Amino acid sequence: MQRKLCTRKVDELGRVVLPQEARTALGIKEKQSFDIYIDEDIILLKINNDIPVCCLCGESEVQLMEVNHSLLCNNCIAKIKEI
Ligand SMILES: [Zn+2]
Repeated sequence: MQRKLCTRKVDELGRVVLPQEARTALGIKEKQSFDIYIDEDIILLKINNDIPVCCLCGESEVQLMEVNHSLLCNNCIAKIKEI
C-alpha cells in the first residue's frame, strides 16, 4: 500500500527530510537505521532495527543495557536517575 505524502527537494548536501507524519506514524526517531533500495525511479527506505540502539535516544555507538526487554544507553539511564 503506497500513498503520496508530499513532495520534498534534495538539499545541497543530498539530504531529504522525512515528513513528520511518516516519522510519527512509524515511530522513527533520530539515528534510526534504514536499508535503502532503488527500483528505477523509486527509492525505498526500509526500517532496519538489526543494529541495537537505545530505545530512548537512538544512539548505537554506546554500551547498551537491557531493562525490561528495552535497550537503554548509560546517558539515558543517568538522565532517568536524575528525575
Ligand atoms: Zn539513550
